[in-house]
Amino acid sequence: MFVAGILRLFLYGILIYIVLAILKGLFGPGSPPETTRNRTAAASPLVQDEVCGTFLAREDALREVIDGRERFFCSPECRAKAKSGTPPAQ
Ligand SMILES: [Zn+2]
Repeated sequence: MFVAGILRLFLYGILIYIVLAILKGLFGPGSPPETTRNRTAAASPLVQDEVCGTFLAREDALREVIDGRERFFCSPECRAKAKSGTPPAQ
């Protein structure tokens, strides 16, 4: 019984070592593109198109400063609507 317990502990140790080695192998060489992808995702928070209510990544949105306020749009159509129409009442 004692030996079995120690053996099991030993096997768990090997298992953890193997898992860590696999994780290191997966993320070691592949980490640069992974981190850059995460960085770009973090750098582009979601913004809302006030005209149609669509949420989109800030880097994909059309940016326009209207009445001194920075606003984002999903398409030139929405941007045109916001520029021609009055700003939404709040
Ligand atoms: Zn829109």
